[in-house]
Amino acid sequence: MNQHPSMEVMCHVNNCKFNEANYCFAPKIEVNAQSGDQASSSTETVCTTFKPQ
Ligand code: SF4
Repeated sequence: MNQHPSMEVMCHVNNCKFNEANYCFAPKIEVNAQSGDQASSSTETVCTTFKPQ
């Protein structure tokens, strides 16, 4: 059974190919710290699923 959570993702990166009306329509997203595996603030995190249109 799939135990992964799912949620709506609101995103304002309008030039991503998965973005439609400020919502993410990617089947899943991956978010990483900009460096290593720890971040101190939200600005140190990035959506690595982003693909330009
Ligand atoms: S893949 Fe990332 S950047 Fe693209 S719409 Fe989804 S959350 Fe936004």
